[in-house]
Amino acid sequence: MPKCQACGEQWGWFDAFKVSFKRLTGKECATCGETQYPTYRDIKIGMVGILIVSAFILIRPLIDISTVTTITSGLLIATIFIFIIPYSVQLSNKHEPLW
Ligand SMILES: [Zn+2]
Repeated sequence: MPKCQACGEQWGWFDAFKVSFKRLTGKECATCGETQYPTYRDIKIGMVGILIVSAFILIRPLIDISTVTTITSGLLIATIFIFIIPYSVQLSNKHEPLW
Protein backbone atom coordinates (compact mmCIF):
# COMPACT_ATOMS: atom_id res chain seq x y z
CA MET A 1 0.00 0.00 0.00
CA PRO A 2 1.23 3.52 -0.76
CA LYS A 3 2.49 5.82 1.98
CA CYS A 4 1.77 9.55 2.08
CA GLN A 5 4.97 11.39 1.12
CA ALA A 6 4.10 14.29 3.44
CA CYS A 7 3.28 12.51 6.72
CA GLY A 8 4.28 8.89 6.07
CA GLU A 9 0.81 7.52 6.86
CA GLN A 10 -0.05 4.35 4.98
CA TRP A 11 -3.19 4.63 2.86
CA GLY A 12 -5.97 2.08 2.82
CA TRP A 13 -6.88 -0.04 -0.20
CA PHE A 14 -9.90 2.09 -1.18
CA ASP A 15 -8.04 5.44 -0.97
CA ALA A 16 -5.15 3.96 -2.94
CA PHE A 17 -7.61 2.67 -5.53
CA LYS A 18 -9.28 6.08 -5.84
CA VAL A 19 -6.03 8.05 -6.13
CA SER A 20 -4.81 5.79 -8.93
CA PHE A 21 -7.61 7.25 -11.09
CA LYS A 22 -6.87 10.86 -10.08
CA ARG A 23 -3.64 11.43 -11.92
CA LEU A 24 -4.26 15.11 -12.65
CA THR A 25 -6.04 16.35 -9.53
CA GLY A 26 -4.54 14.04 -6.91
CA LYS A 27 -6.25 13.19 -3.64
CA GLU A 28 -5.95 14.71 -0.18
CA CYS A 29 -4.38 12.58 2.51
CA ALA A 30 -6.99 11.73 5.15
CA THR A 31 -4.38 12.25 7.90
CA CYS A 32 -2.49 15.44 6.98
CA GLY A 33 -4.62 16.95 4.17
CA GLU A 34 -1.69 17.24 1.73
CA THR A 35 -2.64 16.49 -1.87
CA GLN A 36 -0.91 13.35 -3.10
CA TYR A 37 -0.53 12.28 -6.73
CA PRO A 38 -0.11 8.77 -8.02
CA THR A 39 3.21 7.95 -9.66
CA TYR A 40 3.33 5.90 -12.75
CA ARG A 41 4.61 2.49 -11.80
CA ASP A 42 0.95 1.42 -11.82
CA ILE A 43 0.55 2.40 -15.48
CA LYS A 44 3.34 0.00 -16.39
CA ILE A 45 1.65 -2.77 -14.43
CA GLY A 46 -1.61 -1.95 -16.25
CA MET A 47 0.24 -2.27 -19.56
CA VAL A 48 1.57 -5.68 -18.56
CA GLY A 49 -2.03 -6.65 -17.83
CA ILE A 50 -3.21 -5.48 -21.26
CA LEU A 51 -0.28 -7.34 -22.84
CA ILE A 52 -1.22 -10.58 -21.07
CA VAL A 53 -4.88 -10.24 -22.14
CA SER A 54 -3.87 -9.41 -25.74
CA ALA A 55 -1.49 -12.37 -25.88
CA PHE A 56 -4.26 -14.57 -24.52
CA ILE A 57 -6.68 -13.38 -27.24
CA LEU A 58 -4.03 -13.90 -29.93
CA ILE A 59 -3.17 -17.47 -28.92
CA ARG A 60 -6.80 -18.42 -28.37
CA PRO A 61 -7.31 -19.91 -31.89
CA LEU A 62 -4.20 -22.05 -31.34
CA ILE A 63 -5.27 -23.62 -28.06
CA ASP A 64 -8.94 -23.97 -29.08
CA ILE A 65 -10.84 -22.77 -26.03
CA SER A 66 -14.39 -21.48 -26.03
CA THR A 67 -15.46 -17.83 -26.15
CA VAL A 68 -17.05 -18.20 -22.72
CA THR A 69 -13.75 -19.38 -21.27
CA THR A 70 -11.96 -16.45 -22.92
CA ILE A 71 -14.44 -13.89 -21.56
CA THR A 72 -14.41 -15.46 -18.09
CA SER A 73 -10.60 -15.51 -18.04
CA GLY A 74 -10.48 -11.92 -19.31
CA LEU A 75 -12.82 -10.76 -16.54
CA LEU A 76 -10.83 -12.72 -13.98
CA ILE A 77 -7.55 -11.14 -15.12
CA ALA A 78 -9.19 -7.67 -15.12
CA THR A 79 -10.51 -8.24 -11.57
CA ILE A 80 -7.09 -9.38 -10.38
CA PHE A 81 -5.50 -6.26 -11.86
CA ILE A 82 -8.11 -3.96 -10.28
CA PHE A 83 -7.29 -5.63 -6.97
CA ILE A 84 -3.53 -5.28 -7.50
CA ILE A 85 -3.54 -1.59 -8.65
CA PRO A 86 -3.77 -0.12 -5.09
CA TYR A 87 -0.76 -2.25 -4.08
CA SER A 88 1.30 -0.99 -7.00
CA VAL A 89 0.44 2.72 -6.81
CA GLN A 90 2.95 5.05 -5.16
CA LEU A 91 2.37 8.58 -3.96
CA SER A 92 4.17 11.79 -4.77
CA ASN A 93 3.88 15.33 -3.37
CA LYS A 94 3.75 16.78 -6.85
CA HIS A 95 2.20 15.87 -10.15
CA GLU A 96 4.72 14.05 -12.31
CA PRO A 97 4.79 13.96 -16.12
CA LEU A 98 3.63 10.72 -17.68
CA TRP A 99 7.03 9.60 -19.01
ZN1 LIG B 1 -0.44 12.58 4.81
